[in-house]
Amino acid sequence: MKILFCSSEVVPFAKTGGLADVAGALPVALKELKHDIRVVMPKYASIDKNKFSLKKVNKYLFTSKISDKVTVYFIDHDSFFKHDGLYGDKKGDYPDNLERFSYFSKKAIELIKEVKFVPDVVHCNDWQTALIIVYLKTLYKKDPVYSKIKTVFTIHNLAYQGLFGKESFSKLGLDEKYFHVDYLEYYDKINFLKGGLVFSDIITTVSEAYSKEIQTKEFGCGLEGLLAKRKDALFGIINGLDYNLWNPAQDALIYKKYSGKSLKDKHENKIKLQAECGFTKNKDILTCGMVSRLAEQKGVDVLSDSLDELMKLNLQVVILGTGDVKYHDILLDLAQKHKDSLRVFLKFDNKIAHRIYAASDLFLMPSRYEPCGLGQMISLKYATIPLVFKTGGLADTIIDFHKDKANGNGFVFENFSKYDFISTVKRAMDVFKKDKFKVLINRAVKSNFSWQASAVKYIDLFKRLLKEKV
Ligand code: ADP
Repeated sequence: MKILFCSSEVVPFAKTGGLADVAGALPVALKELKHDIRVVMPKYASIDKNKFSLKKVNKYLFTSKISDKVTVYFIDHDSFFKHDGLYGDKKGDYPDNLERFSYFSKKAIELIKEVKFVPDVVHCNDWQTALIIVYLKTLYKKDPVYSKIKTVFTIHNLAYQGLFGKESFSKLGLDEKYFHVDYLEYYDKINFLKGGLVFSDIITTVSEAYSKEIQTKEFGCGLEGLLAKRKDALFGIINGLDYNLWNPAQDALIYKKYSGKSLKDKHENKIKLQAECGFTKNKDILTCGMVSRLAEQKGVDVLSDSLDELMKLNLQVVILGTGDVKYHDILLDLAQKHKDSLRVFLKFDNKIAHRIYAASDLFLMPSRYEPCGLGQMISLKYATIPLVFKTGGLADTIIDFHKDKANGNGFVFENFSKYDFISTVKRAMDVFKKDKFKVLINRAVKSNFSWQASAVKYIDLFKRLLKEKV
C-alpha cells in the first residue's frame, strides 16, 4: 500500500508536542510492515539543512529520511516558513497561518505529481493539514491522478481547529459555496479542522475513550454534532511510543543509563536532578515531575492551586514547560516561594525532559482532557509512576493501584478538583513510603505501548477503506 503521511511537525525535525512524536514514529512502524509510506511537512527555518542532511530537489522542495528508513519531503516558501516558531510566538498565532497552511496543503498535493508518488491513502493530521483533504475532494477531484485517493484524517487535539476570519475565505481558492455550515463555516468563521472532518473518508483519533468523548458536548468543542453524525466513520487508535527514543537503558541524555531491573542507577539520576534543582539530595524523598505544555488543558491551574498545600508535605516538584504566560508567572512566583522543593524550567528542552522522566518517582498529568497523552507512557518506561486524571487516553492506559491492586500501574483521580488531586498525591506518597511501590515499578517497566499493534490497526482500517466505503 502507498501512503502519504502529512503532518506539520515530525520528530526529529520539528516538535511542539505529541503530534511530532507520532509523525516521527508511526510512519516508521508502517514502513516496517512493508508499506510504501512517505511523509510531507513544511521546511521551517529552524530545521538545520546540514544537521538533518536535507537534499535539495528544487528551490522549494527538499528531502531527508527518518531513521534512514522513511522519506520525508519538506516544502519551503520564500516567507511563510521563515518565522522562528511553527505556529506562533508570544504575541499569539502568526497572522499569516491561513496562507501558510493553505499553501502547504496545495503543495503537498502537487508533490504527488512532482515526485510521481501516487498514494492509495493520504493520511492528514490536525487542522494544519486538513485542507489537503478538502482540496483533494474539491479542487483536484476531477483530476484522474487524484480521484481514486482515499483520505484519512486524524484528530490529535480537537481544541485546536485553525479558525480564521471569513474575509480570508477567497484566499483559499475554494468555491464560495463551501463557506457554509455543512462545510467549512463555523460560527461565521473559517474552520480548517471542520473541513477535514467533513471531507475525509474516515476519521480517527488517538484513543478509544477520546473518540467517544468528542461526541459529547463536554469534549466536542462545538463539533460534537458533526462527529456524532460521522460516528460510523470515526475510530479510536491509541498512539504508541517510540522505544528507540524513550528507553532509559540507551538514553544518552540522562545522567546515568539504567534498566528496569536495578533502581540504583535510576536513583543516581534522582540525586543529580535534586542537586541541579537545589533540593535536598535524598532518594527517600518523593520527587514528582511534570513535562507539559502549560495550557489549561493540562490542568496547570489545578496543579498551581495545589502547590502551596503540596509543599507542606515532604516532597519535591520539578516542572518543565512552556505555554500560557499567565502560568509562567504563577509558577515562577510559587517557585520563588518554595525554593527548597519546587523548581520550574520555563522552556522547551528535550534533555531536561528526559532527565525529569528518569529522575522522578511520580509523573504528574492532571490533564482536564487528553486525547492520548505520551507522558504517562514515557514515564512508565522510566520506572516513574504516573498520576493522572481519568480522561481520554489517560483513562485507556492507566489503572489506579488502589482500585485494582493486581493490574494497577498508576494513580488516577476521578473528580477534576484540587482536592481530589491533592488527596491522590497523598495516596501515592503513602505507597511510595512502603515496599508496595516496588510492585508498581516492576509492573511499570514491563508495560509495552509499542507502535506495532497500533500500526496494524491503521493498516486494517486503510485496507477496509480501499475495499469498501465506510
Ligand atoms: P501534547 O501533544 O498535548 O502536548 P502529549 O503528551 O501527547 O501532549 O505529548 C507531549 C510531548 O511533548 C511529550 O513527548 C513531552 O515529553 C514533550 N514536551 C512537552 N513539553 C515539553 C517541554 N517543555 N520540553 C521538552 N519536551 C516537552
